[in-house]
Amino acid sequence: MLGPKWKARTTFRASLFGTLALAAALSGCRDDREPIDLLLHNGSVAVVDEAFSVASAIAVRDGHVVAVGGDELLDAYAAARTIDLAGRLVVPGFNDTHTHIRGRARRHIELGGVSSIAEIETLIRAKISEIGEGEWITGYGWSEDELAEGRRPLRDDLDRAAPNNPVILTRAGGHSAVANSLALELAEVDESTPQPEGGVIEKDASGRLNGVIRERQGIVSRLVPEASEEELRESQIQMLRDQLSLGITSLIQAGETPEGFEVWQSIYEEHGSELPRATVQIRWVGADRLAAFDRLSGDGDDRLRVGAIKVLVDGGFTGPAAYTREPYRGETEYRGLLNVPEDELRALVDEANALGWQLGFHAIGDAAIELTVDAFVDALAKHPRDDHRHYLNHFTVPPPVRTLDLMAEHGIAIAQQPNFTYTLEGRYVENLDGDRLAHNNPIRTPMDHGVFVALGSDILPIDPRVGLYAAVTRKGMSGEAYGPEEALSIREALRGYTANGAWLTFEEDVKGTLEPGMLADMVVLSENLLDIDPERLLDVEVDMTIVGGVVLYERRGG
Ligand SMILES: [Zn+2]
Repeated sequence: MLGPKWKARTTFRASLFGTLALAAALSGCRDDREPIDLLLHNGSVAVVDEAFSVASAIAVRDGHVVAVGGDELLDAYAAARTIDLAGRLVVPGFNDTHTHIRGRARRHIELGGVSSIAEIETLIRAKISEIGEGEWITGYGWSEDELAEGRRPLRDDLDRAAPNNPVILTRAGGHSAVANSLALELAEVDESTPQPEGGVIEKDASGRLNGVIRERQGIVSRLVPEASEEELRESQIQMLRDQLSLGITSLIQAGETPEGFEVWQSIYEEHGSELPRATVQIRWVGADRLAAFDRLSGDGDDRLRVGAIKVLVDGGFTGPAAYTREPYRGETEYRGLLNVPEDELRALVDEANALGWQLGFHAIGDAAIELTVDAFVDALAKHPRDDHRHYLNHFTVPPPVRTLDLMAEHGIAIAQQPNFTYTLEGRYVENLDGDRLAHNNPIRTPMDHGVFVALGSDILPIDPRVGLYAAVTRKGMSGEAYGPEEALSIREALRGYTANGAWLTFEEDVKGTLEPGMLADMVVLSENLLDIDPERLLDVEVDMTIVGGVVLYERRGG
């Protein structure tokens, strides 16, 4: 995996240190210092190189690391900006290898992570003052499991916050929504409305509508005006900027159409230097449309690149529709579903592999994983590729050892989301059992088999701290630990969330570590997460995010 360029870089570092020492010895005169852009010192700098070395200072020029070392860097370089770390930790910027950045309507409220109905009401009031009375308000992502009141938000809750705005808020997973009185009235839904086929308009004990509509929320949401393209573009840019406050300097968007990629391209042409670096996976839309797209995995530059082809082989455990070898817990038959029939899947894998695309497929259940790996291996036999870096997204239910061995042998990697163990605990406990539950989203087992693993979030939630916490503790939200033998050390987890992500996009020679010559993408953290009690990982703050040597985010008071 470590090619000649890696060696060249290490040699460069060695000679650079030699030159510095010599220069310092000969001059002793501060005027001779080499001008650079940025110098961070008086802290810990986790380089995340092969040896996992930790320095105390780092020097940056023209967007790249020029040196890591100790206080001698202060004598060697005259920096335009010098930052005293005051003992804090610098790590390479986080690389979220599976995320979904979306443009949203201005009327939309993000409800993932909201912890009470009171908070939902506050968010609604804030939105009304932003967009005005009378406007529709939409939202997505609430879950009664996470609300302090221990129940769902209902019509009356929304009415209190929004007597004069129609509101409809969709639950996480998208299978139900709650509407307020004005929204129901505009949709002409009342107590006399017949129950829709395949759905439920809920009533309380007294027979009054409580605002919840299950499966057929379209009877209300059809009235919500469409967002303009400009609105969507602006909010996509904002969401990309928001990633910086989480310490994310690189991300992989897990699936866009070729047309969707054009939007990214136009955003990055205008704002690329202010945003995290992005690689965009392209959905399989058939060889003809991809030929018209006229790009291939790896095309682009270090700001925006074309990623792997994305296909959803199965579903997930929120449906639940992950495709498993054995029936779900407590079921005699149900094993989830394949999204693509096997022969169709094999044909498209053959075609995409032969066309030279990297493949990065969604496979959650063990049967889906097994089938996808077999299809990749067979395609590679028909059309061998040198450095394909095909990978699977998710990899939740551990497949048979035979599949792990095939992955190691053929260099098929994993983009894993350790935070699933934390956030989706309830879904796993409901649907999985035995080893399937204990080893959900395995990391150690595939790594021990020689399979390459990079980490990311799939927005559940995006925050890398949750991923690091779950990778190290294997704990669900309840505090229960699942298969602690799957846990990584914090150093391994950090490597998984930084350097390993760069490998997935063929960029391990340009970013992911803080070795000299690499892009200066890094994060200053409030505490040294290498040393603290893992239970406190979630409290570490991102104080500063630097992309290409430019400080793009600074926490207030950080
Ligand atoms: Zn996803």
